[in-house]
Amino acid sequence: MTTSEPMMIDCGPHGERVSAVVCQHLLQRDTSPSGFIENSDDPHDLQAWCHLCEEKFQLEGEMTDAFRQFNGMAIVCVVCYDESKARHAISVTQ
Ligand SMILES: [Zn+2]
Ligand SMILES: [Zn+2]
Repeated sequence: MTTSEPMMIDCGPHGERVSAVVCQHLLQRDTSPSGFIENSDDPHDLQAWCHLCEEKFQLEGEMTDAFRQFNGMAIVCVVCYDESKARHAISVTQ
């Protein structure tokens, strides 16, 4: 892992921000919490996906095409990332 310059994204209302990656399910605003599993705690490279994606990932065992398609990774800004986290994080330990 290199700690290079963070990737920036111009996120409409949030302006230019450090980018982060979430799964497509975390972008849905009108669903019940989907879980929020963080895969990176590098503030310049935040990545998270929902509980369903975690299950899918365990099933697939790696980043397969099927997993990627299911996950539908989306680039968001860190503010959106935090909003998703607030919306979807549920206190499930393991
Ligand atoms: Zn997901
Ligand atoms: Zn944003």
